[in-house]
Amino acid sequence: MIEVTILGTGATRPTVRRFTTALVVRHEGEVFLFDCGEGVQVRLSQSGFSLMKIDKIFITHFHGDHILGLPGILFSMAKNERKKAVEVYGPVGTERIVNGLISLGFGRIPFDVKVHEIHPGQSITGKLNERGTEYSIDTFKTRHTKESIGYVFREKGYSNIDKEKMKKEGIKSNPKFAELKNGKEVTIDGVLFKPEDWLIEMPGASVAYTGDTMKAKSVIDAVKGVDVLLHESTFNEEDRGKFDWGHSSARDAAEVAKEAEVKHLYIIHFSHRYKSIKPLLAEALPIFENSYIAEDLHGFVLKKGSFTQFKPKGRV
Ligand SMILES: [Zn+2]
Ligand SMILES: [Zn+2]
Repeated sequence: MIEVTILGTGATRPTVRRFTTALVVRHEGEVFLFDCGEGVQVRLSQSGFSLMKIDKIFITHFHGDHILGLPGILFSMAKNERKKAVEVYGPVGTERIVNGLISLGFGRIPFDVKVHEIHPGQSITGKLNERGTEYSIDTFKTRHTKESIGYVFREKGYSNIDKEKMKKEGIKSNPKFAELKNGKEVTIDGVLFKPEDWLIEMPGASVAYTGDTMKAKSVIDAVKGVDVLLHESTFNEEDRGKFDWGHSSARDAAEVAKEAEVKHLYIIHFSHRYKSIKPLLAEALPIFENSYIAEDLHGFVLKKGSFTQFKPKGRV
C-alpha cells in the first residue's frame, strides 16, 4: 500500500490556502518526505505525521519553495532530541546546500545528516527482505531553470490468483484460495491447486512527482504507465509567456499524462496569481480525463490496483 498526503500545492511562497508544494509518502511503516518548503512542519503536524518518523527527505531542486523548510525541520528534530540519522537526497550540489544551511549555526544537530547526491536515472532501493526489494525510487531529469530531478516511487509487485484463468476454467472462488495466494498448495474437492499454476505477478503501485519542470520527453519516458502522476502546473495557456519560465501549463501536464499513459493526474504547484484553479483543471480535462486539482492536506491511497482519494483527516 502507498499512501500519499499532499502537504502543499502552491509555488514560490506559502499562503494560508496553499503552502509550497510537498508530499509525504507512507509505505509499510516508513515515511518519506518529498520537497521541503517553508512551513512544511505545520502541514506535517496538521496531517498527523511526527517529524521523528521521517528518515528520508527527497529534494527536487534548490529553489526556496522546495528547500527553505529544511533548516526548520532539522532544528525541530534536534529539539526533540533525535538520535537517528536523517538521509537527504537531491541533485548534485545537495551536500554543499545542506552543509551551508547547517553552518548557519541555528542550533546543534545531535544526529547524522547523510547526504546522497543523485544523478538522474539512478535508483534508490528499499530494504531487502526474503521477498526482494520492497520499493524503489527511480529518478529522472526534469527541464527547469536549475538542475532538477523528479522521483517515481514504486512498490514491489505482489502475487495474485489468475482470475481470468479461473473464470475460463469455470472454477468458483473458495476461502482456501487465501492460502494459495500465500504460495501454498491447496486441495479442493479432491483437486490439487499449485501456486505455480494459478498465481500471477501483479505490478506494485507507483507514484511519480515531477517537482518543477516544463513539458519534457525525459519526464514522459520516466513516468510511463504510473498509477498517479503529480505534475506541476504553474500557469494556464492564457498566461504562457508571462511568467512561465521553466514551468508547465495545465495543458502541458495533461499532455504528459496522456502521452505517458498514466492512470491518474494531479496538477500541482500553482501560481498565487490564480484565485481559483478551476480554469486550469478545465484546460487539463479535455486532454486527460482522470485529472484532479491537488489540494493541501488531501491525498490518496493505492492498494492492490485500487485508487482511493481522501480529504483532510481522512487517512486510512
Ligand atoms: Zn517551485
Ligand atoms: Zn523551481
